[in-house]
Amino acid sequence: MMRTAIFPGSFDPFTVGHASIVKRGLPMFDRIVIGVGVNDNKRSFMTPEERVAAIARLYANEPRIRVVAYNDLTADLVRREQASFILRGLRSVKDFEYERDIAAMNNRLSGVETVLLFTEACYSDISSSVVRELIAYGKDVSAFLPRPE
Ligand code: ADP
Repeated sequence: MMRTAIFPGSFDPFTVGHASIVKRGLPMFDRIVIGVGVNDNKRSFMTPEERVAAIARLYANEPRIRVVAYNDLTADLVRREQASFILRGLRSVKDFEYERDIAAMNNRLSGVETVLLFTEACYSDISSSVVRELIAYGKDVSAFLPRPE
């Protein structure tokens, strides 16, 4: 039985904080499917296609990582990919209650277990929304965006 984890998120854009979670999660699973959630109600910075392409480029040399877009529930993606785990990151107590509630609901919907990894301290202040704000004001964000390994 393949141990598959879904790493779901908006990834608008995918940051070094996200890349750290993927890198540290990889030894725990046979494969990780990075699921780019498409939310029509949320105005996005990059299109879902751009986000998928950018992330896929990062992991082009890692056959155990796949990137897909999805526009239904994470629990539905879990079933499609026959995954047993959801991988998520935890930066602070602010993230905690939100993550606990979606983990409980996803478990209810598809029996999946959520595995949470603490952020690396050096990335605890990095979020996609902060990176978007810096870009909007013309700042150099290259330090926050991962490069292919
Ligand atoms: P969502 O919109 O579903 O919260 P995000 O793209 O913002 O999606 O984040 C996806 C996951 O990555 C979440 O579990 C989030 O807590 C985690 N994450 C985001 N930034 C970091 C970071 N700097 N360090 C660790 N985990 C992070």
